[in-house]
Amino acid sequence: MGEFELIRRYFAAAACAATADGVALGIGDDCALLTPVAGAQLAVSTDTLVAGVHFPALCDPFLLGQRALAVSASDLAAMGAAPLAFTLALTLPDADPAWLEAFASGLNRMATACGLALIGGDTTRGPLSMTLTVFGQVPAGLALTRAGARVGDLLCVGGPLGEAGGALELVLGRLAAAPDVAEPLLERYWSPPPQLALGQALRGRATAALDVSDGLLADCGHIARASGVALVIDAERLPPSPALESLLGPERALQAKLSAGDDYVIAFTLPPAELAELQRDWPQVRAIGRVEAGAGVRVLDGTGRDITPRQGGYLHFME
Ligand code: ADP
Ligand code: MG
Repeated sequence: MGEFELIRRYFAAAACAATADGVALGIGDDCALLTPVAGAQLAVSTDTLVAGVHFPALCDPFLLGQRALAVSASDLAAMGAAPLAFTLALTLPDADPAWLEAFASGLNRMATACGLALIGGDTTRGPLSMTLTVFGQVPAGLALTRAGARVGDLLCVGGPLGEAGGALELVLGRLAAAPDVAEPLLERYWSPPPQLALGQALRGRATAALDVSDGLLADCGHIARASGVALVIDAERLPPSPALESLLGPERALQAKLSAGDDYVIAFTLPPAELAELQRDWPQVRAIGRVEAGAGVRVLDGTGRDITPRQGGYLHFME
């Protein structure tokens, strides 16, 4: 199978490569052409995933296709951007039809769920890796950046934390669990639903936002720095996760919620007056802390004691 046959069969023929709103020209020419709506800014983000670094080399290709796109789409969600399109630069050791078929259908499933059209890419031979670039649109001036958090705002999250980190222990074979514990966690790892609708609902409401990819503490640190404020997290208000708590026990589950990566839920700061109305449409949104004057991120227990893990402390979790 030659390069062009491979592109045609697995990618250009996928349902997500069909014409879509905002796509004037898709796969097949030297460039794709996008037509954002008048007054919109284009939101663009690129992520590279390398076998053995960002995913296990011998994983299920359907799940990999889903996850690769979900991770990139989550960046659009965190900016409040509406999904438009994506490109796929794929490096493959060989053209294995069964692998390609499964990978493309996982990718197609997530693309269709997100409303992202496949508009182009590149196909090369080499060690397995992929670079996805996503394009979204957001009304000029309304994108959610990391820089606007204000003293007095609440710190909120859009969903569970730590579950993908717990799942990684299962994926890497370091822990085992019964299906009722393993399945919900593995679902969060392989198919984190990008919070695209929530992100758009936060436009004009949230003062700062990002998606939690490196762990809550590290990512809240980005908001604190960019906004010039301190963030305080109340450990007791972190979203409960029965599966994670059963897998790791309460203490390590708390560590995972604070420090494990790959959750891809939106963390954001919000004026307190906005919370009740937001939770009417998004009951899974939780206020987990607040913005104060100062710098850095602190974690408090139920008695107000500072239990912020030291750098060395939380890095141990994944050893
Ligand atoms: P060029 O040499 O002009 O860069 P290519 O031969 O690399 O073009 O690709 C031909 C067409 O197929 C282009 O429209 C390109 O965007 C698209 N394409 C290549 N690889 C992929 C892929 N993995 N997924 C989707 N589209 C792809
Ligand atoms: Mg090319």
